[in-house]
Amino acid sequence: MAKVVTRFAPSPTGFLHIGSARTALFNWLFARHHAGKFLLRVEDTDRARYTPEAVETIFASMKWLGLDWDGDAVSQFEGAAHHADIAKEMVSRGTAYHCFSTQEEIAQFREKAKAEGRSTRFMSPWRDVSAADHPDAPSVIRLRAPLDGETTIQDQVQGEVTWKNETLDDLILTRSDGTPTYMHAVVVDDHDMGVTHVIRGDDHLTNAARQTLIYQAMGWDVPVWAHIPLIHGEDGKKLSKRHGAVGVEEYRDMGYPPEAMRNYLARLGWSHGDDEFFTTAQAVEWFDLDGVGKSAARFDFKKLGNLTQQHFKTTDDAKLTDDLCNFSALHKLQDISPEQKSMVQMAMPLLKERAKTYLELLESAHFALSERPFTPDDKAASLLNSVSIGILKKLTSRLQNVSWTHELIETELRQFAQDQGLKLGEVLQPLRAALTGRTISPSVFNVMEILGRPESVARLEDAINRTS
Ligand code: GLU
Repeated sequence: MAKVVTRFAPSPTGFLHIGSARTALFNWLFARHHAGKFLLRVEDTDRARYTPEAVETIFASMKWLGLDWDGDAVSQFEGAAHHADIAKEMVSRGTAYHCFSTQEEIAQFREKAKAEGRSTRFMSPWRDVSAADHPDAPSVIRLRAPLDGETTIQDQVQGEVTWKNETLDDLILTRSDGTPTYMHAVVVDDHDMGVTHVIRGDDHLTNAARQTLIYQAMGWDVPVWAHIPLIHGEDGKKLSKRHGAVGVEEYRDMGYPPEAMRNYLARLGWSHGDDEFFTTAQAVEWFDLDGVGKSAARFDFKKLGNLTQQHFKTTDDAKLTDDLCNFSALHKLQDISPEQKSMVQMAMPLLKERAKTYLELLESAHFALSERPFTPDDKAASLLNSVSIGILKKLTSRLQNVSWTHELIETELRQFAQDQGLKLGEVLQPLRAALTGRTISPSVFNVMEILGRPESVARLEDAINRTS
């Protein structure tokens, strides 16, 4: 196989849709698997909607997802003059022609065809008029599409798909102002960029037939097509804002790490045996179009959370702590001092067992990130009454002689509860409230070990002083 070249061709709409990100990922994985190239082309011809910020957002989301592209991103708009030249070349080859029909004439043609029960596909009267008979008037350039026969594509996902040529019209390549249409620009760009495989959403399937005719009109090689099913929401309808987050940035802000997103998005429509959880390197090794399914994949937040949890569990504690601190800094959530950071890292084996997002990790690291004296939340405060404070007072004096490991702290606390005739929970609940200001935290024994004796005792004293 010739060197694989894929591309991702987003229209800058202001954010990178999660479905488009999945398309980008499949193109990226396919190119990387085959040691080929992955190119990026911004389809920025709709100038009414174009803004530089919208393009930057796409770049930023791609970078965040780790989908690096080869070379510079191509601007479709900048190729307009070249697209127009190609259309003219097609006219000289006889595979395209100037059409002078006005909008009104086309509308009349359609009305008449409808009234007579014929196909409303526009048949230009200019298709066979020689240049010598052309008026001096603005014209569009239309493809001279075959009138009969069939156009068939071998789609790597959809299989063989055939259209009757009589259903495909003489599509417009350049408008009367000389600007190229989207359909034409895509083909010229894909050809110029040497794209060998077009992997995109199946909403573009019919475009593949029309684009095939353009390739043929220029005598160019038609790329391999792979039209992947769109993503649906949990209710089986096309994924939209109604289902919740659709922009890649929103997932970043919710605290999903890029490696888990890549894993999850790869599984949305592609499979490799029963593998659910895998690294990006494995996905690159395994990815091929054979594994892409024909039916729409459903977006499942629970699965995304589970995969994130598995990624956290297999991430080295120091790296995960760094990632968490970066996340916190990016979102201006918590100032984390070097001391706090080392406590978070110590706690990380516990924290990462349960968290499904960075936000949850940060939430469970709260005890290490609070600076004393702090005010407990309402639930924790309600556990710190005169009875429980009495218990904590006695306990505090016993903590001086304990060797400070979580095992020995646990032994001491159990012994203390027994000596006082209390259930362990009656000691642990107020203790947790005093140490963390919350009613939920990682294991109290570990919390104490990580905080260290002086800090643990100081927090207990704060609670005692606050209540007495
Ligand atoms: N710009 C098109 C889109 O965002 C993609 C076109 C293509 O992949 O051929 O849907």
